[in-house]
Amino acid sequence: MSKKSVLVYGHLTDDQLAALSQDFEITQFSGTDLANDPAFCEALKEAHGLVGGGLSITPELLDAAPALEAIASISVGVDNYPIDELTRRDILLCNTPDVLTETTADTGFLLIMATARRAVELAEFIRRGDWQKSIGEAQFGIDVHGKTLGMVGLGRIGAAVARRGALGFGMKILYSNASPKPTLEAELGASRCELDELLADSDFVCITVPLTEDTEKLIGARELDLMKPTAIFVNIARGKVVDEPALIAALRDGEIRAAGLDVFEHEPLPTDSPLLHMSNVVALPHIGSATTETRDAMAQRAVDNITLALKGERPISLVNEDVWSNT
Ligand code: NAP
Repeated sequence: MSKKSVLVYGHLTDDQLAALSQDFEITQFSGTDLANDPAFCEALKEAHGLVGGGLSITPELLDAAPALEAIASISVGVDNYPIDELTRRDILLCNTPDVLTETTADTGFLLIMATARRAVELAEFIRRGDWQKSIGEAQFGIDVHGKTLGMVGLGRIGAAVARRGALGFGMKILYSNASPKPTLEAELGASRCELDELLADSDFVCITVPLTEDTEKLIGARELDLMKPTAIFVNIARGKVVDEPALIAALRDGEIRAAGLDVFEHEPLPTDSPLLHMSNVVALPHIGSATTETRDAMAQRAVDNITLALKGERPISLVNEDVWSNT
């Protein structure tokens, strides 16, 4: 019997590729516009599995892949997948939760610290040769320890950020989340409140909700206006959870103190974005999970997921459970 075909368009280690090749016929692709790559479109016709990230899966692309059984995304966020459409076609969608939680939370705290202590701005200051005398009030930052951290979303990553804040920095934790988290309330002394109250009372607001119809532009001009002028906004979830022009205006007009951003409305961030010219913004190129160890672990989870799925076994991390329960 011929092997099932798997198209790989994300980074896998040589060992992971070798392991996949034992069970499947592997074809690797790279490039930024795969949907318009004739070789990729041709390979799609026979593909049983896809492994990668960043490719926008459209109904048209699915029409071109009639044999497709499973997609293993190398990400936890699945906002660029048409989940209902995949379910309707009985295509399993798998993701990589858990293995990236701590690394992404580290990125959240990196942004909290970097914005509060103005690390990037002051690193540029010294590099320019502007450090000519002892620094003064004009270069002071603000404390992180002992402040109030408002978590918008208290899932896996949100909890890991909150744990760092509460246990490492003695921060008071507020959170707004779809469901209450009594265990975390007990562990961290966290208090659940309405989003408006969280925004008004927090010194740091950190976004960790997934991008969905409900959370798109969850933070807009009204919400930013509720924040203290001294507060710092951090987004490690998805750019579209925030109305980016409203955020730019709030930063420009001093409605909030600073922002630490790992994600943007459009990625890669256009080079003419005003965010790149604001000294009170620390912008990172979507590096939430981007460490060698964690990216390898995510790739391994994707390999495990596609292997199980195409062998008819339940994948470790399955997004559309309905497909599995209907089999
Ligand atoms: P998760 O465990 O599912 O946590 C998401 C939390 O958001 C859950 O607690 C959920 O509530 C809550 N939530 C969902 N919709 C909500 C709403 N409308 N209002 C309030 N709360 C809501 O996911 P995770 O693993 O922490 O990942 C979260 C997101 O981070 C991902 O979806 C992804 O977009 C992003 N991410 C970014 C990077 C990066 O590189 N920057 C890396 C990894 C992940 P319930 O608990 O009640 O369901």
